[in-house]
Amino acid sequence: MAGLTDSQLLRYSRHILLPQIGIEGQETLARSHVLIVGAGGLGSPAALYLAASGVGRLTICDGDTVDLTNLQRQIGHATSRIGQPKPDSIRFALADLNPEVGVIAVDGRMDENRLLPYVTDADVVVDASDNFSTRHAINRVCIARRKPLVSGAVVRFDGQVAVFDLRRADSPCYHCLFPAEGEDHDTRCAVMGVFAPLAGIIGCTQAAETLKILLDMGQSLNHRLLLLDGLAMTWRTIRLNKDTSCGACSATPQPAAYA
Ligand SMILES: [Zn+2]
Repeated sequence: MAGLTDSQLLRYSRHILLPQIGIEGQETLARSHVLIVGAGGLGSPAALYLAASGVGRLTICDGDTVDLTNLQRQIGHATSRIGQPKPDSIRFALADLNPEVGVIAVDGRMDENRLLPYVTDADVVVDASDNFSTRHAINRVCIARRKPLVSGAVVRFDGQVAVFDLRRADSPCYHCLFPAEGEDHDTRCAVMGVFAPLAGIIGCTQAAETLKILLDMGQSLNHRLLLLDGLAMTWRTIRLNKDTSCGACSATPQPAAYA
């Protein structure tokens, strides 16, 4: 590793001043790869902060195009980019913010097969998706590949965030918390409102947890679910334990596809 350039030392100086990060931590971030599934309300702030922080490679997947109704909260996009695929639109924003970050934009809805190579290559996976089938697909591939999964969700004035550190055998997974995989709930989510800054608060929390995992710093949210009531502005913490009868993570042989 050649070390940081003068311009990088300036760009990241407020990180380097933190003894928990320093030059070594910043070099670790530059060598890291984070997969972000979803370039919407959560993926926008998560990607912007991870890029600003100097994570070397970001892969961002989304199957939608930028719509006027997105711009109230999806701050990685812009009025001038309405109609563009969201991964391309956010790549433009990230390149302008920090051209040193390598951004891979992946267009299309993700299933397990499409996720597999990206998850395999990632150090941390951020679930910023908006539907249960994608969330469960991400979870299954992260279990198979033993990757830390940083999960977030927002609806109306409520937010939640959790880490499933699937590198550890005793970690709960997303399916331990939400065993149902039904699609009917998604339809209702699509017509519910979202208080714009909640997406920022939760997406930024996901970025913070991702950086902490990459730098092995502090205590991650593994085994904890944080619930935010945005109207009262109060956080609740729920302890999460592995469900020993979980259909996704407990005592099941890996599908042949992952062998
Ligand atoms: Zn599980």
